[in-house]
Amino acid sequence: MKAYRAAVLRFDPLRDPHQSAVYEEDGLLVVGPGPAGVQTVQAVGPYRELVGQFPGIAVEHLPGRIIAPGFVDMHIHYPQTDVIGSPAAGLLPWLENFTFPEEKRFVAPDYFAQAATFFISELLRNGVTTAQTFATSHPESVNALFTESKNNGMRMITGKCLQDRHSPDGVRDQTEQSLIDTEALIQQWHAKGRLGYAITPRFAPSCTDAQLRGAGELAAKYPDVWIQSHVAENKDEIKWARELFPNSRSYLATYADFGLMRDRAVFAHCIHFDDDDRALMRDTGAAAAVCPTSNLFLGSGFFDYAGADRVGYRYGLASDVGGGTSFSPLHTMLAAYYVGRTSVEGLQSKPGLSLSPQHLWWQHTAGAANALRLDGVIGNLQPGCEADFIVLNPTATPLLARKTARASNLDELLFAMIVLGDDRLIQRTVIAGTD
Ligand SMILES: [Zn+2]
Repeated sequence: MKAYRAAVLRFDPLRDPHQSAVYEEDGLLVVGPGPAGVQTVQAVGPYRELVGQFPGIAVEHLPGRIIAPGFVDMHIHYPQTDVIGSPAAGLLPWLENFTFPEEKRFVAPDYFAQAATFFISELLRNGVTTAQTFATSHPESVNALFTESKNNGMRMITGKCLQDRHSPDGVRDQTEQSLIDTEALIQQWHAKGRLGYAITPRFAPSCTDAQLRGAGELAAKYPDVWIQSHVAENKDEIKWARELFPNSRSYLATYADFGLMRDRAVFAHCIHFDDDDRALMRDTGAAAAVCPTSNLFLGSGFFDYAGADRVGYRYGLASDVGGGTSFSPLHTMLAAYYVGRTSVEGLQSKPGLSLSPQHLWWQHTAGAANALRLDGVIGNLQPGCEADFIVLNPTATPLLARKTARASNLDELLFAMIVLGDDRLIQRTVIAGTD
């Protein structure tokens, strides 16, 4: 067992997520072996109250530092690391001109192995300890990422893209083979250590009915496997999806009609929804991965936080690199704040929300874990959680030091770090108790 003394941030799962942060100025985090052989949090609380209960324990003192849960990125594309920052007129031209040409390169083993290595190191440098990421349509791209994640002891969820139509040569897969490959990858990797498989229809327009039906059958056969896809990002995309699946009530409902909405189903974007769509999310247990930097960058629209909370479905934050513009969860939280500020219905008539800093932080940690149905496992530092955490240096830059020193409460401190922070704020990233 080992303990860390610093300020400690965590979230009380029994409280309203908008105000659930718990902060110890002088805290102690005790880490030790958990039931599944993974290091977990054994105890957390005020240093003075707790230290006496662990006589002789080695304590690493980190004065002036903040220990916080590792960030959870609910939606990202590891093969698009080098697509980040590519200018395009919108989603569909961006896919055609930048994304598909890059993903075609993922047939060469050297190419995807180095991409997986760089991707993971970039996540860790930014304090992200769990990601749910798309791979490409090539099964080898999944093998490369899982192999690298296993070497790092990192919790990682990924899956091979399903896209048997409306995709260029080199990326398009074959219906039957794609489903055989998906099942083989599930059996090889899912629930092995900290790895999880996600059935990954790229988005409904890229899949035939037969492929979506097969994906739904696998989702029923393997109920603890994740499902990831995209929905209602862009108006042209929605129009196209409605033409391709005219029998479904809405674009989102297409996924339900093929058995792809349930707990552990995560849909990126979820921007252009009506209340029936929101109720479908709630009733099926599916979750939204909110991708604000991507949505602002591609001009897709604004996630409706008020609508999501009014109907009551799960959501959390995601970078969506390469449509997203940063690996940094701090940048994503700031973009989410901008999105909340922008009134959705009409953009003029209603004042926007002011999302609280602790709610923004929750959305990228405990809230994202809840959306992935991994609450109590990751994204928090409650006893029993896996010991994935970061050490923040609130004096990492001159302006951060000056601003955080003036913070008179937790929300001011968190907001200063969200607005002014980047990878320099992340001093250390600890995976399952190991640096
Ligand atoms: Zn995406």
